[in-house]
Order: sequence, then structure tokens, then C-alpha cells
Amino acid sequence: MSLVRPAVADLPDYVPGRTSADVRELAQLASNESPFPPLPSVLTAMAGELPDVHRYPLSGSPRLRAALAAHHGVEPAQVSVGAGSVAVLAHLCSAVLEPGRSAVYPWRSFEAYPLLARITGGEGVAVPLRGEGLDLPALQAAVTADTRLLLVCSPNNPTGSACDAGELGRLLDDVPDTCLVVLDEAYVDYVEHELRPPVDRWLAEHPNLVLLRTFSKAHGLAGLRIGYSVSQPDIARAIGKVTVPFTVTALAERAALASLAATGELAERVAYVQTERTRVADALRAAGLPPAPSQGNFLWVPDAVRPAGLARRLAGTGVLVRDFPEGTRITIGSQADDDRLVAALPDTLVPTPR
Ligand SMILES: *Cc1c(COP(=O)(O)O)cnc(C)c1O
Repeated sequence: MSLVRPAVADLPDYVPGRTSADVRELAQLASNESPFPPLPSVLTAMAGELPDVHRYPLSGSPRLRAALAAHHGVEPAQVSVGAGSVAVLAHLCSAVLEPGRSAVYPWRSFEAYPLLARITGGEGVAVPLRGEGLDLPALQAAVTADTRLLLVCSPNNPTGSACDAGELGRLLDDVPDTCLVVLDEAYVDYVEHELRPPVDRWLAEHPNLVLLRTFSKAHGLAGLRIGYSVSQPDIARAIGKVTVPFTVTALAERAALASLAATGELAERVAYVQTERTRVADALRAAGLPPAPSQGNFLWVPDAVRPAGLARRLAGTGVLVRDFPEGTRITIGSQADDDRLVAALPDTLVPTPR
């Protein structure tokens, strides 16, 4: 007899994007990471923290939570931090889900959603995309009296589409307050300014909105593991109760604080990615692989337009991308890595010998 709860035993394993820990000469375009090393000011802040790591961090990362609260115009008691925004979402799931309750999420979307929805025995309800974008009316229609979480990923990983802010606002107006709407904005920094939803205003207007953000993408701190949510204080308190004590390291807190202050440098890096996104999209289009419009730091080549074995063939040339049944996701990397990708494209189009 297995000692593992059936809800856990039945879960598939999380599949990360292929990375090249030992083989740095590969172009790593599979995990939506930043191609830039941490900013100098962030490295200095971390170095300043190192002599003190024999001490525990302050519980609940109060300095970072205060800074994030000021950033969003909310109270510190509304901010929860965790070892990556995935961890915060996992804690939220364990705080609100149980057998008989459900989480609704779009699919194809972020790999972690179906796993986290079911971890405490809750039901996961997948709602198919409409084309390459979220089907907000269908997501809303899937919410029942037992639904506690509606996950909205915008821009959507892996397809890159961002929800229309007006449509999203109407969804928030209509979803009943028995269901939290979790807006996962892992890639919001890459979204064109005029398309960004007014989330800080929405947080004041919609008590059932939970904002999920991360330092893993534009801030380039994926390896440190730090992310956060903004919610009503009662939800934040519940997240705190199920969070493992001292889960966020002092180094991560210091780095996130420094990164939050480095707005100018961050904007430059984001601008690079946006320009490069256009360049790589043009090259894909020229090669006959038109990507979907993207507001993230990645491009999506839908199955309908990709040659067979695209990811495998790119891997053969040392370029790692992320393969899904519905398409291939290509992270925007350094110019050198993107050049390797573009140079390899003609080879991917040669028919496989039978
Ligand atoms: C990368 C990503 C995250 C961030 O995960 P972390 O745990 O903060 O590294 C969250 N949501 C989506 C959709 C992502 O793609």
C-alpha cells in the first residue's frame, strides 16, 4: 500500500524546460530566463548580505513586503512573498482548495497550474484557449459555486498573448466573490505600456483579485527564487500560515529590494528584449515559421506552421527551445544566441530523410 495520498500519487511530475547546466556552450532558449546577469547594484546588495547569512532572515521578509506595498499602493499586510511566485501560488492553493473545490485555468498555459490545482485534492478544470489567446468568457463560464480560484495568465505562457484590459476588467466585474481571480503577470514587464491593465486600481476595486508577480523573468533573478502576491489581508494571512517559515532567503530579499530600485536599468533591459523580439519574429516569419503575436520574452510557433521535429533539430545545432504538443516556445536570448537560432532555421526546414 502506498503511503502517498492518491491526489499526490496521481499527479504527473513537473517537467522543466531543458537547460544546459553542464554545457554552457548551448544556447538556452527553453526556460524564458533573462539573458542578462544580475545588475551590478543587485550583486553589490547581495555581497553586503553574505557576511550575515549565519543569521536567520527576518521572518516574512518585512522590508521587501513594505517596498512592494509602496510599489503597488497597498498595505504590507496585503503582500505575500515566497521562493518564486510558483511557491506563492502553491501556498494559495493549499490555503483555499480541498476536495470538492475547484480551480479553473486556461490550457495550454503554465505547466504548474494543473499540478498545483490538484495538490490538496481539489479539482482542476482546464478551459481551452481560443486560438493562441485566453478565452475569458469560457473561463468565466466554467466558474461554479465550488470554484475558489480562476487562474488568468497574461501574457500567457507559452503562447505569448496578453488579455485585453477591458475584457479582463469585465471578467473581474462578473466573477462572484466566492472565487478568487489570480492574475499571473510573470511577464508584465515585457508588455507594451498602453496594453498593461490598471492592476493597482483593480486591487482597490476588486477584493477577490490576487496579483501574482515574480523576480524570475525581467528582473533576472530566477536562480534566487523570489516572487510575490498582492491580495486582501485575510488571504495574505492564510498564505502566511501555510508557508514554510523562513522560505525566502535574506539574499533573495536583498536582491529583490535592489532590483526593485533599479528601474532605469530594468527598463533598458526590457527595451532590448522587446526590440530583439521583433527581430527574431521577423526572422522566423522570413523562414516560413510565423510566430503568434507576443507580449512576453518568448515567441510561440504554433503546431500548424512548424516543421516536424523543430525543437529536436534545433537541439541538434546546440539551440535549446521548449517543445509542446501545440507548438514550440522560443525564449528571446542574447543577440549571439538568437543569431544561432536564426542561422539554424533553414536546416529545420529540410525534410527528414525516410
Ligand atoms: C516563469 C513563470 C512564473 C514564475 O515562476 P517563479 O516561481 O517566480 O520563478 C510564474 N508564472 C508563469 C506563467 C511563468 O511563466
